[in-house]
Amino acid sequence: MTAIDAAWVRSLIETFIQDSPENNLGDGTGEKGFAAPLVGFSRGDDPLYEAYKEHVGPFFITPWELFALTFGNSDLQAGQLTVITYILPQTEATKRDNRKEKFNPSERWARARIFGEAVNVRLREHLVIALTKAGHRAVAPLLAPQFSMRISPKYGLSSTWSERHAAYAAGLGTFGLCDGLITPVGKAMRVGSVVTDVQIPPTPRPYDDHHAYCLFYSQGTCKKCIDRCPVGAISEAGKDKKRCATHVRRTRAHVKSTYGFDGYGCGLCQTGVPCESGVPGEKHGK
Ligand code: SF4
Ligand code: SF4
Repeated sequence: MTAIDAAWVRSLIETFIQDSPENNLGDGTGEKGFAAPLVGFSRGDDPLYEAYKEHVGPFFITPWELFALTFGNSDLQAGQLTVITYILPQTEATKRDNRKEKFNPSERWARARIFGEAVNVRLREHLVIALTKAGHRAVAPLLAPQFSMRISPKYGLSSTWSERHAAYAAGLGTFGLCDGLITPVGKAMRVGSVVTDVQIPPTPRPYDDHHAYCLFYSQGTCKKCIDRCPVGAISEAGKDKKRCATHVRRTRAHVKSTYGFDGYGCGLCQTGVPCESGVPGEKHGK
């Protein structure tokens, strides 16, 4: 059995994003889909996972439950599991293009939503295969049959697993007014996660508030994402998920007729805002 540690996992993810031709935007040029990733770890018995179940709904699956459902009940304790989480930042070109948009997503942004997410799927699979070859068990929650969308009594449209919440648990960021996760490389990114029986020490969480990095919640300022939203889905009360989803669905026609592929997206609230590419505010060095 290969000795797996944080450095091994980090290197596997970084190498895939840096060197694999699979990391592309699907336009035939080989242009990269994502920039250099961030990687973090949380323990399977982190109390946050039980708290998510309590807040989001009983349908939320904890790392231990997912492991038991995937591999059958075993004597493994939740604390013997690790949730690997990574952040895939949008490239400078993708962010630059989307900053200019006022209603529909730029072509690169829509490509990152479709072909970029395909890269993310491959990376999750790559991690699971590599861990399995190294003699461990691993499962990607988003690729598991148990993953599905649900309605949370408290939060509306939700799901049985949240990669952004796993990233929060792994110290990779906190939530903003627009509901996106603000990470050290900003909010314009995608997230991936894999649960494994490799024991890796958790990454420290440099915050104790789930809104710590958002200027609206921390200082009462900014609110730039409210202005960026073309359909008024963001207010001081947060994001209207239904209104957002309706707009994103409607972008399909634009993406097809203008860019020539089946896709959708928006991300206007993730670009052209102070938290786009880092943690905003002097306190955090940006
Ligand atoms: S744009 Fe401003 S208010 Fe909106 S999430 Fe980012 S920091 Fe918070
Ligand atoms: S993704 Fe687009 S529609 Fe949804 S909240 Fe952000 S700006 Fe508004």
